Amino acid sequence: MPWNNEYWEKEEVLPKKELEELQFKRLKNAIKRAYDNVEFYRRRLKEANITPDDLKKPEDIAKIPFTQKEHFAQNYPFGLFAVPKEKIVRIHTSSGTSGKPKVVGYTAQDIDTWVNMVARCLYMVGVRDSDVFQNMANYSFFTGGLGFHYAAERIGAMTIPSGVGNTERQVQCMVDFGTTAIHSTPSYAMHVKEVVEEMGVADKLKLRIGCFGAEPWSENTRRRLEDAFNIKAYDSYGLSEMNGPGVAFECKEQQGLHIWADHYFTELIDPKTGEQVGEGEKGELVLTALTKEAMPILRYRTGDITILETDKCACGRTHPRLMRILGRSDDMLIVRGINVFPSQIENVLMQIPEVGDNFQIVLTREGGLDEITVKVEVRDEIFTGELWDLKELQQRIQRILQKELLLRTNVELVEKGRIERSMGKAKRVLDLRSI
Ligand SMILES: [Zn+2]
Repeated sequence: MPWNNEYWEKEEVLPKKELEELQFKRLKNAIKRAYDNVEFYRRRLKEANITPDDLKKPEDIAKIPFTQKEHFAQNYPFGLFAVPKEKIVRIHTSSGTSGKPKVVGYTAQDIDTWVNMVARCLYMVGVRDSDVFQNMANYSFFTGGLGFHYAAERIGAMTIPSGVGNTERQVQCMVDFGTTAIHSTPSYAMHVKEVVEEMGVADKLKLRIGCFGAEPWSENTRRRLEDAFNIKAYDSYGLSEMNGPGVAFECKEQQGLHIWADHYFTELIDPKTGEQVGEGEKGELVLTALTKEAMPILRYRTGDITILETDKCACGRTHPRLMRILGRSDDMLIVRGINVFPSQIENVLMQIPEVGDNFQIVLTREGGLDEITVKVEVRDEIFTGELWDLKELQQRIQRILQKELLLRTNVELVEKGRIERSMGKAKRVLDLRSI
């Protein structure tokens, strides 16, 4: 049951001081639970010569060593669990960048907490029991499917577990069942948008809310999705290591994503030195899970680069906000010494009206020098036009990319449909440099 018409839970608007007190109390608890029950953490804290009692103020957390992706692999499959296996009611996994997947476990209480957290997010953007919620996300191991599914049900929305793929049928469901809210990756939503256009049913849709996450996307993509579906599009952030979706979410103000401070302790660090960055500075997001029974993960380096905004939001929520995530540090491309995120290229391309909804970045090395080629799908009407127009468009895209990224790129225009469509997370980059 919601707390009132506007907020799912009263914790969303806790006065800042109370929220910080609750957060610190839970932080101490989480560290103690990890120390008492997880061999890995006990050893790490001992090596760092600290005990949970040394945490006198929130800043003392900096004494605790980071948890990194490889620690999941080293403790595969259940080494980071803080409860006996009998208490675990579900596991999810997420693909590691190499080798073993990361395994995450949940107690019944964890599932309940998590469902409420995602429900909080959906309720915040206006999903209600009168909505028809179509969840176009991968069910199975990925947390995005079940995470949203149970949250939408908890709110009481009519929930359609449509998963990904079979897109024409999905669009038909949207029309026939009067879908009002959708969730998917932004790249899959772009594909659905194309199919809606091909089927000519845009005016039959009743959509009003779109939730998009699991990969970085840009303001210009937001604009395209909002126009195409006649919706408000919201950014969703989460990661399996921290439950899954629901860690942070945009409110109706669309000015950053509220990160739930009663469930996560947030730090931003310089990825090179590991030191905390100053207020308002860009850094890597480091999270400590405060309420997870099965896996109290401490100081997890997410690899995601963002900025933290602590000013009060117009929506009344007191929780800080993450500015739109630029990308994972893993996703960052280094081309001739310049750092570029694929999401920056996306943002540039999506502001050019002639550009279609798909692109791919191909990296090669020629004579010891990195070359970056951006393959761009263009709208049909451009391709059937004059060759001269195509040349002009290609040069214009090149110029804009160079101006915004300070990087010379090759631009190749291709017909619509030439770049492979993704059903889950988009594969934007083809790196052929090491081959
Ligand atoms: Zn807000």
